[in-house]
Amino acid sequence: MAKQKAAAINLAFNHGWTYAPAPESTDHIEIKSQYDLFINGKFVAPTQGQYMDSINPANEKKLSSVAIAQTADVDKAVKAAQQASTGWQKLKPSERGKYLFRIARMLQERGRELAIIESLDGGKPIRESRDVDIPLAAAHFFYYAGWADKLAYAFPGRDAQPLGVAGQIIPWNFPLLMAAWKIAPALACGNTVVLKPAETTSLTALKLAEIIQACELPPGVVNIITGAGSTGQALVNHAGINKVAFTGSTQVGKAIQKALAGTGKKYTLELGGKAANIVFEDAAIDQAVEGIINGIFFNQGHVCCAGSRLLVQEGIKDVLLKKLKLRMDTLIVGDPLDKNTDIGAINSKEQFGKIKNYLRIGINEGGNMHQSNCTIPNKGYFIKPTIFTDVAQSSRIVQEEIFGPVLSIQTFRTPEEAIEKANNTPYGLSGGVWTDKGAKVFKVTGKLKAGVIWANTYNKFDPTSPFGGYKESGMGREGGLHGLHAYVKL
Ligand code: NAP
Ligand code: MG
Repeated sequence: MAKQKAAAINLAFNHGWTYAPAPESTDHIEIKSQYDLFINGKFVAPTQGQYMDSINPANEKKLSSVAIAQTADVDKAVKAAQQASTGWQKLKPSERGKYLFRIARMLQERGRELAIIESLDGGKPIRESRDVDIPLAAAHFFYYAGWADKLAYAFPGRDAQPLGVAGQIIPWNFPLLMAAWKIAPALACGNTVVLKPAETTSLTALKLAEIIQACELPPGVVNIITGAGSTGQALVNHAGINKVAFTGSTQVGKAIQKALAGTGKKYTLELGGKAANIVFEDAAIDQAVEGIINGIFFNQGHVCCAGSRLLVQEGIKDVLLKKLKLRMDTLIVGDPLDKNTDIGAINSKEQFGKIKNYLRIGINEGGNMHQSNCTIPNKGYFIKPTIFTDVAQSSRIVQEEIFGPVLSIQTFRTPEEAIEKANNTPYGLSGGVWTDKGAKVFKVTGKLKAGVIWANTYNKFDPTSPFGGYKESGMGREGGLHGLHAYVKL
């Protein structure tokens, strides 16, 4: 596809035609000028009347104002969830399932609207919000809807009871999808929820609140409170919460773990990553190049499981690098709403600054930086696809999570060396292996300390598969049958 697109663009240039952008229309997409907190089935103003701006990172314009929940609002939301808990637990499990099916169907019905808002608010290409984020969010609700009345099969011979109220905190890279990952299994197991979306991307969570309202979910079963880090902190510290589910940075994850020590609250932490994508000499090189591109440039590299370190076997380094650079030059960076865009806007000014700083660090450490030859818009937060060669295992850009479209490239000679390098970071979330030999896949993946490993593919997600990390990438698993464990006491 990408090759065809590049060929089409070349053809257009050669004939003196101009390349026509194809932006998705925003007609009939409703974004209110101001959003309140969703507590006990209603939208209510925050007690202190404070709001924050939600910005479109592709043009730096304000999209809407979103309420900031203070401790008193968090308290209201938790109390609403506590009050709703008894009724929700008593409901026949198959009835709970019906609500989840209803939400799943409505997410599908309103898919176009949700995809456009996700791209406007967060900067991701419309192709990805439309084909990945929104369908997967619906798939998560469908999947856990099916478990609601089958917990006895999930836990044979055990009595699976809900935990009570789950406090859930999510990041900005997959806003609606992360909300689905959190809410669906919690409700299926009979818990009620208070969810806090990330500051820069609250809009699709608020649209989900509208959907939940339209589905007539009993009031208080799901509460969505927007705000900053302090809102998340107040939620974690609230005595009425029985479980904390957090996805975000390792730094905040560690702070949450400290805050929860000794409280008896259950928790799951899905944190950062620095995955190695390992390419052996016997791999199908063109496929591997596609996997490397997808691994690091999907969602601007704002992916916890991004293949942000390429480990390539020495013999194919030159040919692979040549192909990789050519392929990078076909990537279109720009308007997230354009259906041809491959790489959209960096999610926020803060993240934009962080990535640019890592580019400086990489250069100062002696890395050899190469960026694609694309043009980027002069307004908005955009970074060209970037690779670094001549980096050391100890380089900061090899060890630290950049969370942007920046790939570090190292070589190896033997499988043992690849494994050693792959495991040598504080993280352990994911990894990729590219080889023609099945035996090598098993040999290498078995020795990688990572929760999710793909072979001859990358960044494939499915609600049935467990997801989670080792080491500083977190604890507990989400997704699949494992994802139910996090929301029950046995
Ligand atoms: P973050 O700064 O840790 O924020 C995550 C969420 O926590 C946001 O809603 C944030 O609110 C909130 N928060 C901030 N400080 C808090 C505190 N002291 N107590 C409670 N909540 C607090 O992470 P991010 O920058 O949004 O997301 C990027 C990180 O998430 C990356 O490191 C990435 O690897 C990780 N991530 C991991 C996974 C996974 O499944 N393992 C998936 C996606 C992302 P504000 O938005 O208001 O700051
Ligand atoms: Mg925004």
